[in-house]
Amino acid sequence: MLRVGIVGAGRAGRARMRAIAERSDLELAGVISSQEDVGTHQFEDLIRSPEVDCIFVCSVNLAHAEQAGAALAAGKHVLCEYPLALSHADAVRLFDLAHERNRVLHVEHIELLSGSQLALRRAAQDLGRPVEGVYHTEANSEGWIADMRLAGFPSFSGISRLSRLVDLFGPAGIESAAFEESEDEQRLVADLRFVNGGSCRLDYRRGRGLPRREDWRVRCERGDLRTVSPLPTQPLFATDLDFFVRRINDGAESYVSDERILDVLSLAEEIQDRCR
Ligand code: NAD
Repeated sequence: MLRVGIVGAGRAGRARMRAIAERSDLELAGVISSQEDVGTHQFEDLIRSPEVDCIFVCSVNLAHAEQAGAALAAGKHVLCEYPLALSHADAVRLFDLAHERNRVLHVEHIELLSGSQLALRRAAQDLGRPVEGVYHTEANSEGWIADMRLAGFPSFSGISRLSRLVDLFGPAGIESAAFEESEDEQRLVADLRFVNGGSCRLDYRRGRGLPRREDWRVRCERGDLRTVSPLPTQPLFATDLDFFVRRINDGAESYVSDERILDVLSLAEEIQDRCR
């Protein structure tokens, strides 16, 4: 039985609680939250508790690196929602710490388990390398996610978009990036060039009340990659959780390597640097 402490009880934290409740090998040992209905512990008590084996970091992005680091230093396995950190250097330190302490540091990237990504990956395998194109994506942004201090630059808070591109076309570098912001809306445009050849533009718009939407138009060697109907999947947080448990119990691999997580964080950082 693995006993879990959860830090942050918003949408992700509560999805984790539901996924834990469905398993007989996990037990919820405590929750840190400002919301009175679920909060049971203080952070320091939870990470030091001998009754807790793992900490799930489901808080705002700014807090991830510090909370994950403290939990690893206290000897706990850690599952962290993306982004692991708001800098590549902090993420490297966290993986090193996990390695030193012989603990699992698992970073959730559920976008790679989604039905749309599975369908795109299957299509991309047949189409060959990208030549050029655009991945256009829009999302609502309200509350802390619209606050760069808490969420990080949009390339960090929207790291799932970069992760999906690298998953489809392999490692990449940034050719150019631009950011514009008005009172209600932010837009990030970044041109990626893939190590194996070809390029693709990420056009990421977010703003108050914008419905989630995506549009793929990428010309590839053997045809066009277009927006596809998602393939059916299991609930994403529960699937991710299963990988985490198998990593601890059986030494299994995650669905995304530490190296890939770090590569994508360096793209996010490069975009941020170019936009400043
Ligand atoms: P949310 O706004 O629903 O919840 C965030 C929670 O963190 C709130 O309960 C808030 O009270 C708490 N919080 C704020 N500051 C904190 C601090 N310093 N320490 C601890 N808790 C703090 O947000 P969310 O959608 O649950 O997102 C949480 C994390 O999960 C984010 O990093 C996000 O990128 C990641 N994530 C969310 C989803 C999703 O579908 N919601 C998917 C993938 C990743």
